[in-house]
Amino acid sequence: MALLQLAEPGQSEAPHQHRLVAGIDLGTTNSLVAAVRGRQAETLPDEEGRHLLPSVVRYTLDGVIVGDEAKLKASADPLNTIVSVKRLIGRGLGEIKSLGGRLPYEFRQQGSAVPRIHMVVGDVSPIEVSAEILKNLVARAEDTLGGDLTGAVITVPAHFDDAQRQATKDAAKVAGLKVLRLLNEPTAAAVAYGLDTGSDGIHAIYDLGGGTFDISILRLNRGVFEVLSTGGDSALGGDDFDRLIAEWIMQQAGIQGDTDHATLRHLMESACAAKEILTLSNEAGLGIQLEDGSRWRGWLSRSKFDQLVDPLIRKTLAPCRRALRDAGITTEEIEDVVMVGGSTRVPRVRELVGEFFKTEPMVSIDPDRVVAIGAAVQADILAGNKPNDKMLLLDVNPLSLGLETMGGLVEKVIPRNTTIPVARAQEFTTFKDGQAAMAVHVLQGERELVSDCRSLARFELRGIPPMVAGAARIRVTFSVDADGLLNVDAEEQSSGIKASVEVKPAYGLTDSEIEAMLSDSIDHAKGDMETRRLREEQVAAERVIEALTAALRDDGDTLLSAEERTQIDAALASLIEASKSSGHKVIKAAVKALETQCDFYVERRMNASVKTAMSGHTVDEFGGLKKKRRECRKP
Ligand code: ADP
Ligand code: MG
Repeated sequence: MALLQLAEPGQSEAPHQHRLVAGIDLGTTNSLVAAVRGRQAETLPDEEGRHLLPSVVRYTLDGVIVGDEAKLKASADPLNTIVSVKRLIGRGLGEIKSLGGRLPYEFRQQGSAVPRIHMVVGDVSPIEVSAEILKNLVARAEDTLGGDLTGAVITVPAHFDDAQRQATKDAAKVAGLKVLRLLNEPTAAAVAYGLDTGSDGIHAIYDLGGGTFDISILRLNRGVFEVLSTGGDSALGGDDFDRLIAEWIMQQAGIQGDTDHATLRHLMESACAAKEILTLSNEAGLGIQLEDGSRWRGWLSRSKFDQLVDPLIRKTLAPCRRALRDAGITTEEIEDVVMVGGSTRVPRVRELVGEFFKTEPMVSIDPDRVVAIGAAVQADILAGNKPNDKMLLLDVNPLSLGLETMGGLVEKVIPRNTTIPVARAQEFTTFKDGQAAMAVHVLQGERELVSDCRSLARFELRGIPPMVAGAARIRVTFSVDADGLLNVDAEEQSSGIKASVEVKPAYGLTDSEIEAMLSDSIDHAKGDMETRRLREEQVAAERVIEALTAALRDDGDTLLSAEERTQIDAALASLIEASKSSGHKVIKAAVKALETQCDFYVERRMNASVKTAMSGHTVDEFGGLKKKRRECRKP
C-alpha cells in the first residue's frame, strides 16, 4: 500500500553504482523472485529451471526443506509440512481457528505472543516459516545475479491488514532481507504491464490465485497511478476449483466422503492436474486409485468443468461490483482488466470477467509471474538504478481505521479506501469531571461495535489537567505511511500533553522477540517473557507515580498533615527507587504498598471532592491509583 514516490530527489544514484535488488511475490500457493536484467524484468528460475516456488516448508530433524520437495511430502508428513502459511501470518490464534477448513497443525501460544506451530523441531511461528521461503528466494536471486541483494520489494495482498503487513516485514527481517517497500500485489501487476506509460484511464486488476481473490480499481492520471478502491474474498481461489472437481470425481467413481486421507489427497492432485490440462485442451483423462486397489478411469470435459466452476467465478463478480461502487465508477469506464494469478488461466474465468467488464482481459504477461515482475521493476527504481523515472503510485487503506468511544462503539477516523499516505485528525473529549487519563483504543474494520472489529493497539493519554467533563480537547491524529503502517498521536490541546503509538499489531513481533529468533534459542524466548513482565510492571509503577505526584501537587498540602505528607513522599520515593529494579515482583510489591499507604489520602480526596464537586476538581485526577482509566467520547 503505498504512495510510492519512486526515485525521490537526491535519492537516485549514479548509474555505475548499480545495486542488486529484487521483487518478491510471497504468495499463498506459490512464491517467485524477479529482477531487472539488462532492460527487462524477469522471474528467476532455480537450478532446475522452475520459476514458481511452492510456498511449502517442511521441517525435519535434518533441516528445513522449501518448495516442490516439501510439497511432495505434504500428505505423508502433514504435521511438519506447512502449506499456505500466508493465511496464518500476522494472525492471532482466535483468527486462525476461525479461518475454516481443517488445519492439521497443532498451535501453541504463550500469552499474547505470536502463535506457534508445534513440530518435530520445536515450535515455529508463521513469521519464521515465511522467512524460510524468503531465504530460499534470496539465495536463488543471489546465485543467479552473482552478488548480495541490497534489498527487495515484497508484495502483499490489498486486503492485508496492519498486523499482516508488519508480520511480513518481520519475516524479511528474520531472513536478513532489507525491505525496500511493501507493495500491493495489484499495483505491482499494473506496473508490470507498464500501464503508467499508456494514456490516462481506469484499470481493473483481477487476481485469482490458489486461495484468495482480489480486485483493485486503479486510475492513471498524467502518469500517476491512484488505487481508487480494493475488494475481494480471502477464501476463494483455484483450490476451490480443485475441490469441486474432486467432489465430482467422487460422485462419478462412487467414492464415499469418509475415504482415507491418502485417497482424498490423490483426488485433489488429480483434480488440479485435470484443471490445468483443461486450460489448453477440451478434455482431461482421469485415473483414480481406489481404496480397494482397483482403478477408476474417466474423462472430464471442458464444458462440464466450466459448469462446475461457473458459480465460483460468478462469486468473484460481487466484490468487483462493490469495488466499482466504492470507486464511484461504472464498468463502461474501465479501460483494461489485468489478469493476475494462476487461476486466471482458466478460459471460463477470462470469458466471464471479460463479459462483466465489457473488455478483452489483458493476459500477455504470464499471470503467475506478473506480480513479481512488477515488484522487480519497482525495486529497480527504488534502488536508484533508473534515475529518470518519476513514477508515482497512489494506494488506499483497505479497511477503516478508528477509535473506541463510549459504549463500545467505533468512531471511524480514516474510512476504508482512502488514498494513502494520509493523516486525519478528530477531536475527542473527557467523559467525567476531572478525568485525568484517556484510553485510546485503535481499531480496524467496517463494523460499528468494538467487539466486531480488529483491535490494533491501545495506549493512554495521561496527565490531562482537571476540567469538567467535555471541556478537554483531545486531538487524535491517525497517519498511515506509504507502507500502509499506522501511527496514532493524541494531544490534549490546552496543556499540550501528548501520547502516541506506532501500531505494533497485537500479533506482530517485538524487536527483542525477533532477536531471540535470530539466535534461535528457546532460552532467549524465556528471557523476553521476563523482560515483558518487567516492562508491564514498570509501566504500572509509572502510572501510579504520575498520578500520585499530580495529586500531591494539587492538594497534598491542604489535605495532608506535614507528618502524613512526609510518609507518603517517602513511600513514593521508594516506589521510584523500586521501579528501577530489574525484578517485576519487587516493583509490583512496591506499587501495592504505596496504594495501601495512600488509601486514607484517596478517601480524604474523595470527601473533599464531594464538597467541591462543582469545581470539577475530583478524585478522578488521582484515578490512576485506584481505578485504571476513563473512557473518552466524541464531543
Ligand atoms: P497465489 O497467488 O495464491 O500464490 P498463484 O497465482 O500461484 O497463487 O495461483 C495458484 C493457482 O493457480 C492454483 O490453484 C493453481 O492450480 C492455479 N493454476 C496454475 N496453473 C493453472 C492452469 N494452467 N490452469 C488453471 N489453474 C492453474
Ligand atoms: Mg498471487
